[in-house]
Amino acid sequence: MGFAENYKCLTYISLLLSGVSSALALLPFYYIWKIIKEVLEVMPNFENAAGIVKNGVTAVVFAALSMLIYIVALMCSHTSAFRVQANMRKQMMHKIIQLPLGEIEKFGSGKLRKIVNDCSAATETYLAHQLPDMVGSVVTPIGLLIFLIAFDWRFGLISLIPIVLSFVVMMTFMTGKTLQQKMAEYQNALDDMSNEAVEYVRGIPVVKAFGQSVFSFRKFKKSIDSYSEWAIAYTKNLRLPMAMFTMLINGIFAFIIFGGLIFAKGEITNELILNILFYVIITPILTVTMTKIMFQSENKMIVADAFKRIDSVMNISPLEATKCQKPTDASVQLKNVSYSYDGEIKAINNVSLNIKSGQTVAFVGPSGGGKTTLANLITRFFDADSGEVLVGGVNVKNIAKEDLTNAVSYVFQDSKLITGSIFDNIRLSKPNADLDEVMSALEKAQCMDIIEKFDSGVDTVIGSNGVYLSGGETQRVAIARAILKNAPIVILDEATAFADPDNEIKIQKALNELSKNKTVIMIAHRLSTVKNADCIFVLQNGKLIEQGKTEELCSQNGVFASMLKNYLTSVKWKVEKEELK
Ligand code: ADP
Ligand code: MG
Repeated sequence: MGFAENYKCLTYISLLLSGVSSALALLPFYYIWKIIKEVLEVMPNFENAAGIVKNGVTAVVFAALSMLIYIVALMCSHTSAFRVQANMRKQMMHKIIQLPLGEIEKFGSGKLRKIVNDCSAATETYLAHQLPDMVGSVVTPIGLLIFLIAFDWRFGLISLIPIVLSFVVMMTFMTGKTLQQKMAEYQNALDDMSNEAVEYVRGIPVVKAFGQSVFSFRKFKKSIDSYSEWAIAYTKNLRLPMAMFTMLINGIFAFIIFGGLIFAKGEITNELILNILFYVIITPILTVTMTKIMFQSENKMIVADAFKRIDSVMNISPLEATKCQKPTDASVQLKNVSYSYDGEIKAINNVSLNIKSGQTVAFVGPSGGGKTTLANLITRFFDADSGEVLVGGVNVKNIAKEDLTNAVSYVFQDSKLITGSIFDNIRLSKPNADLDEVMSALEKAQCMDIIEKFDSGVDTVIGSNGVYLSGGETQRVAIARAILKNAPIVILDEATAFADPDNEIKIQKALNELSKNKTVIMIAHRLSTVKNADCIFVLQNGKLIEQGKTEELCSQNGVFASMLKNYLTSVKWKVEKEELK
């Protein structure tokens, strides 16, 4: 209800109205009873039945009134429910913007989207329909109980027998811990299947390229199999209870007729017929109510699950700066830093290093050594478990988010552009930049050929009308963005890894422009690009095992020396043409 703000009262009004509507819905049955009664009394002189029309009209009026009030109730509940849904989404998005990138990565964007969209939608159905109906499902049985006592209590009791039995069936077989457990398993199987489906769709290019059949995606097929296995077992499990439940709540009239036969004791009076007819007419309400109650327990589980997922986003604490200090220079320092993704294996293990202002350094080492993780700690995508990370002499925890963002530029391995003009894409890093500044950045980043290629120049909208940039072009635009930002510290994470040779030369030039008079941290596979670095840090299994200039490291004959040897051998390889014989 906190999400509903001022619309909260609308929800309460809708609950009240729904209750009133359910109570009114019972009244027509009273007038129908009166009609039957009169008919039986005047039989066979039907012309004496003077009250039939009046009672009939009254019944219709109450039925119509009940529907009308229900519609108003739903209008109120929907207004409030949509507000709740909108506020939930807004608050979640607001939260997500504040979260460290590392946390968002842990979720995965697909899962995050699902939580923001689907989980909030689940609450909408619940608030708009199920909550008002729930009031109805309380008011209706109470009203019926009053009817049961007011008319013939014997039939009232008899019609309660199947209700009690259906409750027993429901409680024993259709609710409880094991079923909740199974419900969770069911949701998980569903989640797995949709995850695998996304993986599968993403992998289609690979499948096509290598001519693999669908069965190469064993995991996807397995998830479908396990889902179907589970779903079928679950359904079979519930078949008998569900059949019993349906039979009981739909068969109340049979109990009443059976009871009528017993009570009649051979003599059928008008009053008996009247009561039997009344109960036979009114029991479908019980059926509907019981069905609603049964589905409510399931809906409640779904909403509870949705809330759990929403909380899992809302409860992540953003990395706020505790004190607001500004970095004094462009140095980076790590003191005994450790970090683990899973709490067991240390991705970074007690690393200390020193990068002075203006230095160009490189992180190298085998894949999975921790290079990217280390760079992410410097930009505070997440916080170190222990130790200190200092940027410009200040602990990153004490630097305001904006100041840290302005101090460090990060060029990713796979940079992303937003759907928008090239101009807007560049300006993301400095929203108040004018055209001249943007053009100058584009020029420095070797992007002029991209601009010239399109008729609308910098106003070309990427991602629309078939305008797409290649990986290398995207990378250059991303570098232009970083050049415009002009942060004193630059981190390049394998920025040339995916580029073709032509692009690589341009990207290299762009990176040189970006790196002028900056502190540069390069993460590189190609050891040729790091050999002039002021210092090379070699990371293996999260540990800093060697550091120094190229010559120093080579003379040590350690890991770097052997990496360099392998690298130099591999670059000498070339593809030779076989002589045709
Ligand atoms: P590098 O960049 O040197 O290849 P990374 O820093 O990416 O290495 O990874 C270091 C270690 O942390 C690896 O063992 C990797 O499996 C693990 N790792 C990286 N990213 C994640 C993540 N998001 N969740 C869990 N483990 C991760
Ligand atoms: Mg990496």
